[in-house]
Amino acid sequence: MPETTDQLHAWDREHYWHSFTPMAGYEPLVIERGEGSTLYDTGGKAYLDGASSMWCAALGHNHPRLNAAITEQLGKLAHCTSLGMGSDVAVRLAKRLADLAPGDLQHVFFSSDGSSAIEIAMKLALQYWRQAEEPKLEKTKYLCFNHAYHGDTIGATAVGGIGRYHEVFGPILCEVIRVDPPDARREPDCEAALARVEAIFQEQADRITAVIIEPLIQFAAGMLFHPPGFLSGLRRLCDEHNVLLIADEVAVGLGRNGKLFACNHEAVTPDFLCLGKHLTAGYLPMAATITRPHIYQAFLNQTPEEDRTFWHGHTFSGNALAAAAAMATLDEFEERTFEELPAKIAHLGERWCDLAAHPEVKHARQLGMLAAFDLEPTGGFLDENSTGRRLAQYALEQGVWLRAKPDLVYLAPPLNVSIDDLDRMCDVIAEGLRGAADERG
Ligand code: PLP
Repeated sequence: MPETTDQLHAWDREHYWHSFTPMAGYEPLVIERGEGSTLYDTGGKAYLDGASSMWCAALGHNHPRLNAAITEQLGKLAHCTSLGMGSDVAVRLAKRLADLAPGDLQHVFFSSDGSSAIEIAMKLALQYWRQAEEPKLEKTKYLCFNHAYHGDTIGATAVGGIGRYHEVFGPILCEVIRVDPPDARREPDCEAALARVEAIFQEQADRITAVIIEPLIQFAAGMLFHPPGFLSGLRRLCDEHNVLLIADEVAVGLGRNGKLFACNHEAVTPDFLCLGKHLTAGYLPMAATITRPHIYQAFLNQTPEEDRTFWHGHTFSGNALAAAAAMATLDEFEERTFEELPAKIAHLGERWCDLAAHPEVKHARQLGMLAAFDLEPTGGFLDENSTGRRLAQYALEQGVWLRAKPDLVYLAPPLNVSIDDLDRMCDVIAEGLRGAADERG
């Protein structure tokens, strides 16, 4: 007999410690299956996935092509190590990513999650400066942005800029320099922000290993958009001051931004490109850190005596099932998703323009398949009475899952969402806004 929903809820409360969830007030929501853009709970209630299961379910749920690719791979090989060997499917994926990635990004290091992809970029950058033709041993710091989020492992936490997530761990984090990013709501051009970075480089570039950025949009910051030109300006400053550039495209990359890579918007080649989430359309844990030949060369032993190896790896790096899912994701992107994407992006834009006219809505913004607006801030981050949290609660009741934030509403649906489902998500947000306005009187 399968357990009842009540039983599952009781076990959930008792034993399942959820990510980024204040557990004291946790209300169980147990999902049993998914289909397209819809998730179904154990009671059979449907929820449109307005955040693509935290920005990863690029092709929705239960996708036939992905299911078939994983099943086929399962009949051949589920996993083999990446230590000194690798599966044929992971080799094909490495070649494909190298072909697709901007500029001369050619060498792919696989891992299991976005945080590890960042950690790898940070470690590679540090070790590179120790082994470069002209070593720079004093380069040990990272420049990062306020409000940034790069994951939760210790290195990735250190370069984060959201106090709530990193402050308590301060004593065990590496030293970083933080600078304000340009916020397109207040700084329509990027000159002042570039000047802030340049001032730091002028003083301390000889001690900075790398700068790490979420290109174009800082997601966890509250969908903070950068003005155009910032990314390419940063690349220029990095070149001028001999600082490496790490582009964290874990959230924004692989279609969310409307193109394959956010860096493509400004023709930028970073020194490290970090991918995750959409890489397997959220099916299986896989991430990648892709780097350039001059970095890779510094890790090749020149004599039998010397050791330049990158002594880093994860048990599941290059997992064959995940690689098969990634290949199928890229096939689907190339054959269908990217053809249909411009129309969906345009439709989301039209719906968002309508929402922008609502008096509660501030700073409506969109890039690709991500649209957001701000609401009047109230109380603190956990304020259940804030308009944002109440709107998300209303949407949940109406069968649309939005990640609740007190002063932000955003939609990041699967890239292949149907126009009907997209309309339904926007309709519910509009109803929620009308309700909030009515309550205010
Ligand atoms: N970088 C960015 C920009 C992210 O948004 C996230 C996760 O949301 C990460 C890194 C960490 O990825 P993961 O949760 O797979 O470790």
